[in-house]
Amino acid sequence: MTKTALIRDLRRIVGTANVVTDNDSLRVYECDGYTIEKARPELVVLPASAEEVVAVVKLLARERIAFVPRGAGTGLSGGSLPVEAPVTICTSRMTRILHLDPRNRRAIVEAGVVNAAISRAAAPFGLCYAPDPSSQPACTIGGNVAENSGGPHTLKYGVTTNHVLGVEIVLASGERLQFGGLSEDTYGYDLTGFTVGSEGTFGIVTKVFVRLVRLPEAVKTFLAVFESVADATATVSGIIAAGIVPAALEMMDQTIIEAVEDAYHVGYPRDAGAVLIVELDGIASAVEAQAERVVATCREYGAREVRVARDEAERALLWKSRKRAFGAVGRLAPNYCTQDGVVPRTKVPDILRAIQAAAATHRLRIGNVFHAGDGNIHPILLYDERDAEQVERVLAAGRDILAACVELGGSLTGEHGIGIEKMNQMPLIFTQDDLDAMRRLRLAFDPEERCNPHKIFPTPGGCVEVKWPRRGVPL
Ligand SMILES: Cc1cc2nc3c(=O)[nH]c(=O)nc-3n(C[C@H](O)[C@H](O)[C@H](O)COP(=O)(O)OP(=O)(O)OC[C@H]3O[C@@H](n4cnc5c(N)ncnc54)[C@H](O)[C@@H]3O)c2cc1C
Repeated sequence: MTKTALIRDLRRIVGTANVVTDNDSLRVYECDGYTIEKARPELVVLPASAEEVVAVVKLLARERIAFVPRGAGTGLSGGSLPVEAPVTICTSRMTRILHLDPRNRRAIVEAGVVNAAISRAAAPFGLCYAPDPSSQPACTIGGNVAENSGGPHTLKYGVTTNHVLGVEIVLASGERLQFGGLSEDTYGYDLTGFTVGSEGTFGIVTKVFVRLVRLPEAVKTFLAVFESVADATATVSGIIAAGIVPAALEMMDQTIIEAVEDAYHVGYPRDAGAVLIVELDGIASAVEAQAERVVATCREYGAREVRVARDEAERALLWKSRKRAFGAVGRLAPNYCTQDGVVPRTKVPDILRAIQAAAATHRLRIGNVFHAGDGNIHPILLYDERDAEQVERVLAAGRDILAACVELGGSLTGEHGIGIEKMNQMPLIFTQDDLDAMRRLRLAFDPEERCNPHKIFPTPGGCVEVKWPRRGVPL
């Protein structure tokens, strides 16, 4: 089939305007939030429903064309980068909340529904969808499922997998299946569990069955200011050791504090070494009792100031500054790469030392903003992509930081996935037998590896040079 004929047939399925073919528009889809590598797809298809996804995927199956699922493109590991897959299928038109059942605290949503839209729809019933990535005003639930996304409040509430009861998925053959559903427990293999975190390599998720949770009766948010990152990290362990699990426990270091203050004027002291945002939620009386202990613990570990958000506006400003911290980083350098790793909480001081060492070795400026409570680090490596040598240093520093995470008993990703970025580091964690077993599982869903090829699994031959731009393939 010629490219022209394919475009004609795809347009018959989704409508003329919903097949993107011109070069300028395709540039939007040439990377996600991991901007170090880029590859432009040949075509982007924007279906409006699961039925249209099935028809599109069946056509691609007949022609044996590889494709990449894409939500909002906020991913940070290059998951939706088209590598030897000419067609991108983007769910951004699939935005219907199909079912909302407040009494049973469940919802069924299409894959392109934006994360924050679920909580907005549930709020009038006193409910919300708990996993709240900082990208929640933009990222889709389909992307969240693929990456098993976390967020500031997943310290207490758990990550995506803890809130997804089922999925509808269209396999690369065009077969449409449902795993799990609205009920709490299902029989047989946990195929929903396999799908969550599969990074778009099993098929395209078209519907997600989610659990909703009650909005807390009371919320208290604190800003604790420290002279050093070491004092702030010791406080994190101190709070948890005191038997308190806050809803969120987030840290920003001085580099990020300055950028955020310039952007949002929150009133952070620019000379502080680190700040912690601590949020407690639950029953009002319990929150009050815990609040006193949190303040005392912060002071015991050297906080020079502990402020309580006096009202919802102050609380919203604190969260805005944290959740939009990445945006503020644009003030510091033309480009940045957000690394993502995880270590046991008690090893946070060690990994921060390793990050400092990587910054010195590779002559880079690195800021830190992260989910300190669960040991999920996000060093932000600042650079200028116009200088290829700087890009090499960023990649090398990223590799050193992830190797340090593994050495400290942690892992390659806390929440952003492996994607294209970290696939060649998978052998740091997994044996060849482990990787082969995972690959066989993937093949059960997608035997021809046409759905999001060349992701997660290391390139055969082990340590392979990173090359970019990645190979696009013509149709
Ligand atoms: C400013 C910023 C802050 C962030 N904060 C967080 C955070 O706090 N926590 C966190 O976990 N992540 C965070 N992220 C990362 C990112 O937002 C998440 O990984 C998110 O889940 C990606 O969703 P998306 O819709 O943008 O997916 P995309 O980037 O479009 O895709 C991500 C992956 O999912 C696959 N995919 C997308 N849709 C589907 C589908 N329907 N079916 C199958 N596969 C699909 C793609 O193939 C790709 O592999 C942040 C990103 C940014 C830019």
